[in-house]
Amino acid sequence: MRPAQPAVLTLDGLQSLVEALKGRGHRLIGPTLRDQAIVLDDIDSIADLPKGWTDEQDGGHYRLIKRGDDALFGYAVGAHSWKRFLHPPVLRLWQAKRDQGSVHVVPEPKREERFAFLGVRACDLHAIAIQDRVFLGGPYVDTDYKARREGAFVVAVNCATAGGTCFCVSMNTGPKVSSGFDLVLTEIIEAGEHQFIVEAGSDAGREVLAELPQRAAAQAEIDAAEAVVTQTAASMGRQMRSDDLHELLMGNLNHPRWDQVAERCLTCANCTMVCPTCFCTSVEDASALDGSEAERRRRWDSCFTMDFTYIHGGSVRASPRSRYRQWMTHKLATWIDQFGTSGCVGCGRCITWCPVGIDITEEVHAIRESESG
Ligand code: SF4
Ligand code: SF4
Repeated sequence: MRPAQPAVLTLDGLQSLVEALKGRGHRLIGPTLRDQAIVLDDIDSIADLPKGWTDEQDGGHYRLIKRGDDALFGYAVGAHSWKRFLHPPVLRLWQAKRDQGSVHVVPEPKREERFAFLGVRACDLHAIAIQDRVFLGGPYVDTDYKARREGAFVVAVNCATAGGTCFCVSMNTGPKVSSGFDLVLTEIIEAGEHQFIVEAGSDAGREVLAELPQRAAAQAEIDAAEAVVTQTAASMGRQMRSDDLHELLMGNLNHPRWDQVAERCLTCANCTMVCPTCFCTSVEDASALDGSEAERRRRWDSCFTMDFTYIHGGSVRASPRSRYRQWMTHKLATWIDQFGTSGCVGCGRCITWCPVGIDITEEVHAIRESESG
């Protein structure tokens, strides 16, 4: 693959990118404003992007606030991740209909839709790579995930703003986008100019970029784009040493901290719902009251619910302590045994969207400190 030559796109150029992707038949998903939050949804033009907004995030805290400029990507990740499009919250697996006394199974239609994702951050690209490993990398390939993932065009964005709960630097997953993208943008607003330094990361990206109104980036503009990620890396909201987590957590399975966190944890499962890598599901059946049809659905589930581990006689993990410990040790330790990487990309969502502000980095610090003391 040829090395990507950085180019400059104006706002009109960005709109041309949106049109080029839609013209190629992609369903374009990107950040937009809804319900006082930045959420991922269908995008028709750059006018749908959250121009001039940023977010304030902390443990159990998320607020939108106005920026002093018209940045289109000047915020960190929100509650939604790309998981909801590649691994949707509810998926019908099959349906059956009764017809003149016999029952026949109706096959699910083949998915023809191809996504284009606009505004994917470095941490979320790593999260997609982790889910690729889970759904595509083992002996069982998830055919629905595969169909959604194939042909998806990824326009990534280098983060210019670290959220209050971000710790991608600690997890080596950001803020600079390094792989897994077709195009990557760095937004620069300087001296009255609003533009994007863009690089291609794939042949598909180069092909689309070649169609857009653009010019070659000057060295000063490439340096300015580098400075954006350097500054973001220096302003992470959280930090967590990550090189010894397997040993630290697996060596402390009976630490009193698990009881302390369990006193605060509501076992609401928010953290698993917002996490871009959590993938657990349950399968449920539903039928019409008149018996005319039935369907089987797969829906997101969570290790925080009692039902998730219910087998004959009760739940395997009956206490909040055991459920929180299962989640955190899987995410940061046993995920490595299972899939070869951490299950955490440092996006901070589980901290922001925990209603009682439980902070995975703080829990690790507490166990580490008691060890070193
Ligand atoms: S850690 Fe927070 S978000 Fe997760 S289950 Fe407990 S209370 Fe809910
Ligand atoms: S565990 Fe928390 S910080 Fe880590 S990837 Fe999941 S939501 Fe993000």
